[in-house]
Amino acid sequence: MPEGPEIRRAADRISKVLIGKEIIESKFYYERIKDKEEIVKNKNIKEILTRGKAMLIRFKNDWSMYSHNQLYGRWTVNLNTTKIKSSRTLRVVFTTNKHTVRLWSATDIDLIPTAEENEHSFLKKLGPDVLNESCGFELIEERLTSKSFHKKKASTLMLDQTVFAGLGNYLRSEILFDAKIHPDDRPLDLDKERITQWAKSIKDISHLAYKTGGFTVSKSFAEKNKANGEPRKSYRHAVFMRHKYECLNCKSRIERKWYGKRKLDFCPSCQIQRGKIKPCKY
Ligand SMILES: [Zn+2]
Repeated sequence: MPEGPEIRRAADRISKVLIGKEIIESKFYYERIKDKEEIVKNKNIKEILTRGKAMLIRFKNDWSMYSHNQLYGRWTVNLNTTKIKSSRTLRVVFTTNKHTVRLWSATDIDLIPTAEENEHSFLKKLGPDVLNESCGFELIEERLTSKSFHKKKASTLMLDQTVFAGLGNYLRSEILFDAKIHPDDRPLDLDKERITQWAKSIKDISHLAYKTGGFTVSKSFAEKNKANGEPRKSYRHAVFMRHKYECLNCKSRIERKWYGKRKLDFCPSCQIQRGKIKPCKY
């Protein structure tokens, strides 16, 4: 599932072949943006950035294309000579003299003036992007302990995009394990030291996933898990998708909880509950 780190890696990949290059042709097939496509058609691209799980492609004429891939959208980069076969619905195409960049299946795409990005209905509600350099762990700590959020469960805070942008299911499990926080604990239940560790884990684990392409453990841990016969979906994590396996720290069995339809994997020994509220029985 694409979370902030995956979207940022996609932005890096398409930036490499589009920024500073002549756009020979661009096509927009999505009905919602049809009436504005002439404004940005064949316009060169100035920069591509991400805000959480959203991507912003800024054209040189000060218009932007906003896109959110949800669970199904996908960016591809190919040489113009590569023949493409796909059953997905094509939404947007950018062609340079060498490469073709395509956005498939996404259903959340808008064309907006760059100056009005912050007014966009999704972007205006977003919390700070955890991968952005301007979002330091002090700011994260401040938000965790603020009156608006300190009574909410860790499991809720780690998915709510208005609190922090860019976190998703695998990062939620991995961050809480790294910080040794029980998913039902609230910032209010934790001491200062634990909150600081939580804030650092949010930054560190997200950054590690971005740098490594979705790994949230060190290379040596991943190799150890792999050698034990674990599949890729679990060996690159400490707890997520490892609910059948032993904890890397304490050898307890990783457990799974469900919050709505979203799974959360955690170690019951490393992540003891500090708050007074009894754990939810799921
Ligand atoms: Zn453990």
